[in-house]
Amino acid sequence: IIRIFIALLSPEESSMFIAMHTQEAIPVLWFYVFLALLINIVMIGNAMTRLVSKIRMLAERDQLTGLWNRRAMHKFLNNIHQRWLRDKVPYSMILLDLDHFKDINDQYGHDAGDLALLTAARLFGSVLRENDALCRHGGEEFLVILPATDAPAARVVAEKLHQVLKDNSFIWQGVTIKIYASLGYATIYQGCQPDKLLIQADQAMYRAKSEGRDRICQAC
Ligand code: GH3
Ligand code: MG
Ligand code: MG
Repeated sequence: IIRIFIALLSPEESSMFIAMHTQEAIPVLWFYVFLALLINIVMIGNAMTRLVSKIRMLAERDQLTGLWNRRAMHKFLNNIHQRWLRDKVPYSMILLDLDHFKDINDQYGHDAGDLALLTAARLFGSVLRENDALCRHGGEEFLVILPATDAPAARVVAEKLHQVLKDNSFIWQGVTIKIYASLGYATIYQGCQPDKLLIQADQAMYRAKSEGRDRICQAC
């Protein structure tokens, strides 16, 4: 571009600046080499950054809902447990399993089931705080990890999650479909490990199932 401007604005000097075979052209040619290298480095850097963020997304996010996956959840859980050991700030977790989810798949098809999962994920996300981690724990199971949350506060969050399903539904091919869930929650205590807490939340969730579903139970 500079060479074009020189040629246009000062034609008398153009032979010196535009010529490629003269001594004066050498710095310009080096400049070209440097510019080409710089452009390549920037482009490669860009591609690498996009690749790394895509790999990270694939490794830590659930493909359907975009929520954290099990692997990311374990990382988060271990970090929060370390904070509990250090500062003694309790954390809680809520395990949610959609009720009779197989019936939605069987009655309306797998795509309707997928939409139910997406709807549940969106509704749960809408009542949680930014610090809370919402993850897809399995097929139609969700896990919420609540930092700095004791048992009474976890109950409040569980009720919000339960209520948001009650207040909403989704429409599939003109049919309004309701989603129900059973919830179990547990709060960390002295001597308990994250894996054990997860088992206790799971047991509480199964108690909610056996007591009639669509309800909340606290871990014993
Ligand atoms: P319960 O109230 O006892 O939990 O009954 P349920 O029907 O919800 O539970 P069950 O374990 O019998 O069935 C879960 C179903 O969830 C079976 C499986 O095919 C379905 N599922 C798992 N992942 C997905 C998914 O990504 N999309 C869809 N559409 N279905 C899924
Ligand atoms: Mg299940
Ligand atoms: Mg279920």
